[in-house]
Amino acid sequence: MFQFDNSYARLPRSFYAAVMPTPVSQPRLLALNHDLAARLGLDAGRLETPDGVAVLAGNAVPRGAEPLAQAYAGHQFGGFVPQLGDGRAVLLGEITAPDGARFDIQLKGAGQTPFSRRGDGRAWLGPVLREYLVSEFMAAMSVPTTRALAAVATGETVWRETALPGAVLTRVAASHIRVGTFQYFAVRDDRASLKALTDHVIARHYPQADGPLALLDAVVAAQAETIAAWMALGFIHGVMNTDNMAISGETIDYGPCAFMDAYHPQTVFSSIDRQGRYAWANQPQIAVWNLAQFATCLIPLMGEEGPAVEAATESVHRFAPLYQAAWLRRFGDKLGIEGEPNRPLIERLLTLMAEGRADFTRVFAGLASGAARAEFSDPRGFDEWARDWRALSPDTGRMAGANPVRIPRNHRIEQAIEAALAGDMAPFERLSQALVRPCEARPEWDDLSDAPLPAEIVHHTFCGT
Ligand code: AMP
Ligand code: MG
Repeated sequence: MFQFDNSYARLPRSFYAAVMPTPVSQPRLLALNHDLAARLGLDAGRLETPDGVAVLAGNAVPRGAEPLAQAYAGHQFGGFVPQLGDGRAVLLGEITAPDGARFDIQLKGAGQTPFSRRGDGRAWLGPVLREYLVSEFMAAMSVPTTRALAAVATGETVWRETALPGAVLTRVAASHIRVGTFQYFAVRDDRASLKALTDHVIARHYPQADGPLALLDAVVAAQAETIAAWMALGFIHGVMNTDNMAISGETIDYGPCAFMDAYHPQTVFSSIDRQGRYAWANQPQIAVWNLAQFATCLIPLMGEEGPAVEAATESVHRFAPLYQAAWLRRFGDKLGIEGEPNRPLIERLLTLMAEGRADFTRVFAGLASGAARAEFSDPRGFDEWARDWRALSPDTGRMAGANPVRIPRNHRIEQAIEAALAGDMAPFERLSQALVRPCEARPEWDDLSDAPLPAEIVHHTFCGT
């Protein structure tokens, strides 16, 4: 079923705990990602058989798998926790796609592990479907991200203040190695493991890097691109803890994440983010903070301390210009314009949008047609702006691919989850189909482009736990 080659399992035993997924009573396939299966060289037909579903539920372990839970630490909302680890996820192993790319196959919600602390190791249907929809939309928009191969209902009850149906997500990632993985060994002063992890990551993700400093440079650059891509979609990750920042640069851990409807830079959705630490506009600074933690882990491997600190600091500081360039390119694409001199024009539009609480996605999607005007309660400022913008002869072809007409709006995700809880997967399937063609306008999906009605607005999102 899978041709495993498990490089992580070959790392020292301190890196993980070998652990089997815990079987579930009545596995039932809810969703299978045929496009992703094809991209990975997997036989979707086989994954849909009872034998395949048994694997996706954790009831059967395929030949060649070496199931394990990864050890990691992390700063959660700025506070350091020396041991987190996969408490509800089991890595089955790694496969190689036909194009040679290596991917982790992980079951999220697969039962307890030595890292579960007091948690049940499970996930419920809501966050599983949410991650499926949002991560696949991100992939469709070419944002670096983990992917969703399948969602399976377990037939078991999960308790989250109330009884909810359990589910397992099959997550696919370039790797699940995080800033927190490095922190786990750094805080233990385990130089040998840090070195082994660094070598592993360089070989796996950044083969052109010739050592820890070049690795740091590469991760800084990758994260600058990823965060700029989030910003251009109005995406708020919600829990940018260091354990939720992947070394590969992929977006990982879709917990309380959300896309803005009405634009405001200080928007926060996560119910646990009371200080607004991870608000939309704060994300680039938080990335720098997280990368500084990563740099701190690498310094002991970088030779003499003084020069190492200096070089690492310089590397982290390069995030700002790289991010600014990526931001300009992304928003330039959205407006069909180019170049540093146009930055103030982009900022002027965002200011007008914030003042008028205009819908982020609908403004950009409606620029070329002129429909954007209707998103502003007082369109005078916008009209003036639009004249200046039109004078630059924007390239509407470039705009079309950068401005989705549909995003995974919170109220639509909630409606799909509500229906799924009542046994109806049709709204999920429809949304899922529509979100993987996000830039294609189609009359039958017009309603999915609508902003929420006042009663439909979702004000808070919750962690996946
Ligand atoms: P997260 O907030 O999802 O990034 O998770 C933070 C930590 O809590 C990680 O170590 C998770 O593995 C762990 N965790 C979250 N939910 C559960 C759960 N239901 N059971 C066990 N561990 C969990
Ligand atoms: Mg996490």
